[in-house]
Amino acid sequence: MSSPVGHILGTTIVYAASSKAMSLPKLSKGCYLGLALLALLPDIDAALLSHTPHRGVTHGLLAMVAISFLFYLLLRSAEAADAPRSRFVACSVLCAAAHPIMDTLGCPARPVEWFSPFWYSGLSIDPYWTILPQPYFYIVHGNSFYLPLSAIMDNIPQLIFEVMILSGVLVFLTLPRSKVHSRFVRYVAIVVACLSWIVWRLYFPTVWMR
Ligand SMILES: [Zn+2]
Repeated sequence: MSSPVGHILGTTIVYAASSKAMSLPKLSKGCYLGLALLALLPDIDAALLSHTPHRGVTHGLLAMVAISFLFYLLLRSAEAADAPRSRFVACSVLCAAAHPIMDTLGCPARPVEWFSPFWYSGLSIDPYWTILPQPYFYIVHGNSFYLPLSAIMDNIPQLIFEVMILSGVLVFLTLPRSKVHSRFVRYVAIVVACLSWIVWRLYFPTVWMR
């Protein structure tokens, strides 16, 4: 993944699930704007830094530490922020990790350089590549670049799949584990999310988003 919308949704879900699990105080509505901006911050390489390769240093672990710190400042700004500091740190790291993890699960045309600037090898985990490696390379070779119009057309079905994947993860993380029927719904949701991820990559193997 993902489109900008997908990144904001994904990071918000990670925040909602982890802050609930850690009993952190709720953010004010205005702070969600900050959360959305921080969710998109790694893509500053594509938007502003034309000399930096996309999914390079701004998507690596070093940048993740810096962005975690910004998330930490944002989460600590919540009212009644009296929970233990370690919980804020853990929640901040999870929020900052969401973007590069989502990109790692996307198209390997742009693998994520997790150890940039020390090591420039990229990582991508893609079910399409895993199941059908050869056609993938063939298709990507001919369609490395997308015109804006085709990118917009691709975004609509892609967004539907993103919502299915992310809402499945949200249901899995937030439904209580104690009741038998909600436990069943949780596992159905995570299976739907995984299948959607596979189908998404099978149908849109050449789509790489920010
Ligand atoms: Zn990205």
